[in-house]
Amino acid sequence: MSDKTINISDVVNLPLDLKEQKKALEQKSPAVVEGKVKVYDPNKDNVKNLLEMLKNKLSRQTVSSLVGCVHCGMCSESCHYALARPHDPTMTPAYKADQIRQIFKRYIDWTGRIFPWWVHAKTPKNDEDLNRLKNIVFGTCSGCRRCTLNCPMGVDTAVLVRLTRGLLTELGIVPEGVFVVDKDSWETGNQMGVSQEDYIETLEWQEEEVQAELDDPSFKIPIDKEDCDFMYTVNPREIKYDPRSIAYACKVFHMAGESWTMPSFGWDQTNFGLFSGDDKLGGYIAKNLYEAAKRLRAKRIVISECGHGYRSSRWEGYNWAKYKQDIPSESVLITLIRYINQGLIKVDPSRNPLSITYHDSCNLARSGDLTEEPRWILERICTDFREMYPNRSDNFCCTGGGGALSMVEYKPLRIEVAKVKADQLKATGAKLVCTSCHNCVDGLSDLIKHYKLDMQVVQILDLVAEALVIPEKNEKK
Ligand code: SF4
Ligand code: SF4
Repeated sequence: MSDKTINISDVVNLPLDLKEQKKALEQKSPAVVEGKVKVYDPNKDNVKNLLEMLKNKLSRQTVSSLVGCVHCGMCSESCHYALARPHDPTMTPAYKADQIRQIFKRYIDWTGRIFPWWVHAKTPKNDEDLNRLKNIVFGTCSGCRRCTLNCPMGVDTAVLVRLTRGLLTELGIVPEGVFVVDKDSWETGNQMGVSQEDYIETLEWQEEEVQAELDDPSFKIPIDKEDCDFMYTVNPREIKYDPRSIAYACKVFHMAGESWTMPSFGWDQTNFGLFSGDDKLGGYIAKNLYEAAKRLRAKRIVISECGHGYRSSRWEGYNWAKYKQDIPSESVLITLIRYINQGLIKVDPSRNPLSITYHDSCNLARSGDLTEEPRWILERICTDFREMYPNRSDNFCCTGGGGALSMVEYKPLRIEVAKVKADQLKATGAKLVCTSCHNCVDGLSDLIKHYKLDMQVVQILDLVAEALVIPEKNEKK
């Protein structure tokens, strides 16, 4: 493990990498040709365009955060970047938000237009300045909103970071990973570019796994079944890297005697628009999900374990898609609580004897208010639960930030500041860290490997499936 501290100017001055953009242009990528994903054009007046877009994207929420900061410094102690690099003022939330605040003051707020020197108003001069802005908003903030919770003025720095990311996305001034995921999302309807064929094949494969485990060839994963109690939606990571989680969920639904289905399209409950700040992409992905539920006349949407997906599908997506919230949605955690509470499934906690702590996903806990539900389940499915401190809505980010893992260029800094989370995990002495988010699984796994912690990451569904008591007739002979 290297103790070398990153030189922050190396991060801020990372160049704009255009390889993927050039490739997409050469290949006539539909999303690029149709203008859904923007590529960088050095011949355009990008500074002027950014200022114009900023004027049009202001809302009550963003303006109150732009004008509300009194620079008290209280937010510094809440940010894992600032805590891991206490002598670096550029890591404080206020500094990061100031990058867009200064521009707002210079061009929109009357004080900065008349007395720019007085209120530290500033303007980007050229595309190099915009590129530096890109590195700050994408590379030095995970959008975790811990600073928001600790600001006495109610300033939401993460909202300002997202606003700035969205402006830069419109100019094609984005990290390569963000460009690729945006493009894949538009072209395939899911953020990992999973084809329809691969999705269906994975479900069929998991269907066979459950059939074998239950010794029940009649078990089916119902695809596009109409009039069910719920439509189950997943994170593309489950299809691509962790299909076991789908089998676990399906097995539990089956044992509970549930009426459910999975859509053939509109199944991605995650939404990269939340991360990249692209509201149009956010609306497109969210609408796919809501329309699928409507098409299948599902009574509700159930969202698999993902903080980012829960926040975007249950809360933000309706606004981006300008969609009437007429179909209820819930996290699979709520579904599991119902099953256990009503005795529809039986669980045996002794099957999970290892010490377990719980990591609250920022988007589930801080932005989604799901803090007690995972603990309620854990109390019933394991024997040695240990709380991590701080926890619930005060918990530290896994450093994955709902999409940060797509940007490899910022990984060294991300891993350096992950020390705050690593220390928090280590202090529990637990062998397993449970989270209810696929993105957090990757963020935590990265830092566990780097800081050589003796623990593994699991999710609630893994533990529920392990604790599930299967009646004898269904158990494999
Ligand atoms: S805590 Fe709030 S008001 Fe104080 S510096 Fe941070 S953002 Fe500004
Ligand atoms: S949102 Fe999180 S990572 Fe970003 S500045 Fe605030 S505390 Fe730091």
